[in-house]
Amino acid sequence: MTVVNIIEEAETLNAKLAPLSLAERLSFVAGLDVRVVFTTSLGIEDQVITAEIGNHRLPIDVVTLQTGRLFPETLALIEETENQYDIHITRYEPEQADIEAYAAKYGMNGFYESVEARHACCGVRKLKPLARALAGATIWITGLRRGQSANRAETPFAEYDAERHLLKINPLADWDIETIKSYVADNSVPVNPLHARGYPSIGCEPCTRAIKPGEPERAGRWWWEQDEKRECGLHVGEEATAVAAR
Ligand code: SF4
Repeated sequence: MTVVNIIEEAETLNAKLAPLSLAERLSFVAGLDVRVVFTTSLGIEDQVITAEIGNHRLPIDVVTLQTGRLFPETLALIEETENQYDIHITRYEPEQADIEAYAAKYGMNGFYESVEARHACCGVRKLKPLARALAGATIWITGLRRGQSANRAETPFAEYDAERHLLKINPLADWDIETIKSYVADNSVPVNPLHARGYPSIGCEPCTRAIKPGEPERAGRWWWEQDEKRECGLHVGEEATAVAAR
């Protein structure tokens, strides 16, 4: 598929997916004759998508980035989710040599010291494993929502990821958090107990804290950094070129 084709596909898919339900959106992309990968962080949005994939037995590869710094609650939820939906969630882990090289240069928790050191850690523990997880995929499904942060306010249903040369599908882009919570309650979806303790967005344990009432959903991620657009590099950057109408 050429770059032009894949951009056109994003524009077409965005229009096609907009009026559909979540199940219809997922079924549509699962029915395309390409490898479809869903990356889950086990957050509440991702649990909704996993429930749909599991309940409808959709041919979508469910994977997670086991960074080695996740909360015990998140690790337990991976297994609980597999059992509940009778699916396998493939864990992608960082290379030990990369971890050792990072620790030698920055210290194991060097990410607190500078943005550069933090990005280097996310690169080793998230971005490189993500590249392996997405190898051979044409479509990447994510749980991004417009309401998660100002940075994600214009998330389309389909966009072209130029760096990874694939189509990124965000089937929950237009869902709000109340709709997510209702779905979880109505369908007995297992969720991370940390959500109830003030963690709406959950990443690695040393880089996530509970938020205060009124703070944005992602305010607890890399809280010591000043940049309002702080992300781990999975979803935001020059490489993520949204081309679809929003
Ligand atoms: S979130 Fe923190 S611990 Fe996890 S990969 Fe990024 S810097 Fe490292």
